[in-house]
Amino acid sequence: MATLPIDSRVSTPTADFVAQKHRMFIGGRFVFAASGKTFPVYNPATGEVMAYVPEAESEDVDRAVNAAREAFDNGPWTRMKPSERGRLLWKLGDLLEQHLEEFAQLESLDNGKPLTVARAADVPLAVDMFRYMAGWATKITGSTLSLSFPGDFHSYTLREPVGVAAQIIPWNFPLLMAAWKLGPALAAGCTVILKLAEQTPLSGLRLAELIHEAGFPEGVVNVLTGFGEGAGAPLAAHPKVDKVAFTGSTEVGRLIVKAAAGNLKKVTLELGGKSPAIVFPDADLDKAIAGTASAIFFNQGQCCCAGSRLLVHEKIFDQVVEGVSGIASRIKIGHGMDPETELGPLVSDEQFHRVTGYINSGVEEGAHVLTGGKAGADRGYFVQPTVLARTTPEMKVVREEIFGPVVCAQSFSDADLDRIASDANNTAFGLAASIWTRDLSTAHKLASRIRSGTVWVNCHNVFDASLPCGGYKESGWGREMGEEALRNYTETKAVTVAL
Ligand code: ADP
Repeated sequence: MATLPIDSRVSTPTADFVAQKHRMFIGGRFVFAASGKTFPVYNPATGEVMAYVPEAESEDVDRAVNAAREAFDNGPWTRMKPSERGRLLWKLGDLLEQHLEEFAQLESLDNGKPLTVARAADVPLAVDMFRYMAGWATKITGSTLSLSFPGDFHSYTLREPVGVAAQIIPWNFPLLMAAWKLGPALAAGCTVILKLAEQTPLSGLRLAELIHEAGFPEGVVNVLTGFGEGAGAPLAAHPKVDKVAFTGSTEVGRLIVKAAAGNLKKVTLELGGKSPAIVFPDADLDKAIAGTASAIFFNQGQCCCAGSRLLVHEKIFDQVVEGVSGIASRIKIGHGMDPETELGPLVSDEQFHRVTGYINSGVEEGAHVLTGGKAGADRGYFVQPTVLARTTPEMKVVREEIFGPVVCAQSFSDADLDRIASDANNTAFGLAASIWTRDLSTAHKLASRIRSGTVWVNCHNVFDASLPCGGYKESGWGREMGEEALRNYTETKAVTVAL
């Protein structure tokens, strides 16, 4: 059983939930894995086991897919009026808001992130996503079309749910990623099997209880805990699944595409990034320094859109990079539940070794550690916020996604926006970028030349339920959030009537 109490700062509802015997949610019921197997969930601040959750394997995946298939093909869900679907989504948002503190604590304990961040960002943004998508449920419409074909016709399009959606999510924003996935799928009328990340299953399991309480019909949402190979892979390959939506590493994204090929599932992917933050000499430098530091250090750098390449004009390079290093060296590292903490641990031992391995590889290739570069505490998975200078585009730390609090600084001397855009685009990824300048012309011209799904000007990591988010190039296929996300979950049907 789990080691409890986890932390004296944890409130009773959270502690009670963590201590319970965890079950998955399949066909409207809370169940253990068919095999009875479980696996441990670690507290990343201490490395201790907090809980055990069921380990789903193929048999459980089958049960969940069959439940979702049955709910889509024969259940009340697809006959339900759009306003009723919207009402259920809204209710889920309300329930989540009522339990905001509990979810924030779960997120902090499980992922390691500062409680203050989970309270201010993860949970409210998830609430907002459910409400935003609740509004869309009644607004998914087709159009009427005028044909040039000889004769008289009445033609129109219908937007229909794509069917059973498998959704596989990562650990960096466990609850929020669940909301990004569930919101549009449910608004569109799909049924879902949600596979939580093995590192951070707790908030998703608690969300399943709220989904049940909200009154979604059985089988509409099924929630699995398990590993990538054991549960994710059979889910992505399952012949009764119509669509797979994945957020995670580019490497696993490629495996998903292969697995989905069998029955040609519709696939959307939100993958890695190596996003540039580009600072011009005319920028408000105080804001640019604080903004680019937050762009990389927010959520311990475990953001797909993290500003991990800091491109600074040579005139202000020293000032900006020293400013960012100064912030990095003052960031308060600590347990996520400590109210003073600004930077928590990384999510797992594996991630700790991955990130420190990248820092070492950068140093071996000639990068200079301006600040940080080491473990942030004696135990737990802490890594100091790190600024690497003298980095070049060929280095592994500049080419590959580190997914930790490590920024690579490079200077540019040019005023030519094409050359700057070419530096910014010199990556296999294309998720996001930020531009720091007071010159409107520079901002808009460069924004149009950068090959990424998001461009921020004088800000970074601004997310909203209405803003589509996703990648060019190897950062993915399709968009999450906004009206665009509904396209992932609908098919268009053209109906033509000869009059
Ligand atoms: P990270 O490397 O950051 O841990 P991953 O891309 O490995 O991210 O994991 C993201 C999600 O994908 C998790 O839910 C994980 O279990 C799942 N996953 C990992 N491998 C596979 C796979 N082969 N097929 C399907 N899902 C997978």
